[in-house]
Amino acid sequence: MPPTFLISGAGRGIGLSFVKALLSRDDACTIFAGVRNIATATELQAIAKADKRVIVFPLDMDDEGSIQNAARVLASRSPSLSVLINNAGFAPEKTTPAASVRSRDFIQAFRTNTLGPILLIQFMLPFLEKSGGLVVNISSLLGSIQVNPGRQVAYAVSKAGLNMATTIFQKQSKEKNVTFVAAHPGTVATDMRPDLRQPGAMPHITADESAQAILTNIVFSDDVTALGGRFITWEGKDMLW
Ligand code: NDP
Repeated sequence: MPPTFLISGAGRGIGLSFVKALLSRDDACTIFAGVRNIATATELQAIAKADKRVIVFPLDMDDEGSIQNAARVLASRSPSLSVLINNAGFAPEKTTPAASVRSRDFIQAFRTNTLGPILLIQFMLPFLEKSGGLVVNISSLLGSIQVNPGRQVAYAVSKAGLNMATTIFQKQSKEKNVTFVAAHPGTVATDMRPDLRQPGAMPHITADESAQAILTNIVFSDDVTALGGRFITWEGKDMLW
């Protein structure tokens, strides 16, 4: 069975780079590329028009109905799913002190970064179990209790929650049939980090470099099951929790 991939937030940033990197690696794959707004995902649409391996479909991580629909889209084309990359994410605050972050920012971060990915796993689990699949939850070093320097509390809490969910899904995975990994993609120059596009920015990598590295060191690593329940960097190193 040719491998199937599902990527959330595939319209730009690291998600779009995952699509491109997979196309360059695997001639036989099918990529289900979920985007919140198909109309604005023009680059992805152009890729899909030229390459039948890419199926673009609507996926809003804040909407349970939309997430459930992803299972219908997948089922209409494939009996199983090899790899789910929970990539979509949102950082509501930049530098706001924890003492004054608004409740709506916490709720937004939780919906998009924690609950949405959990629901997507739930709906995809029957398909992943058929293939002994892999779930890569794109987390962040800010979700690490030991590494976060004291920034972006709503985003950090939501990613720490995603990390916890990763470990619990792994522990409950029947006979370790599905592997769950939390991944830190690096410090990546995307729309989420406009500061990295300024002169004198801190060291960083491109979205293409991040996606390629995650594919090499996690998705296509020699022993994927050994990564189960771990928090791994784009370079394949363990992150502190
Ligand atoms: P971008 O801001 O460039 O892209 C975010 C992506 O997530 C977009 O495709 C966006 O879609 C999508 N998205 C956001 N909210 C939703 C939603 N409710 N439903 C569906 N899609 C949504 O960020 P990155 O590419 O940098 O981020 C990718 C992942 O990497 C995120 O999970 C982020 O937290 C994580 N990360 C990034 C780091 C960095 O340095 N860039 C560092 C650590 C982690 P749309 O176009 O519709 O807005």
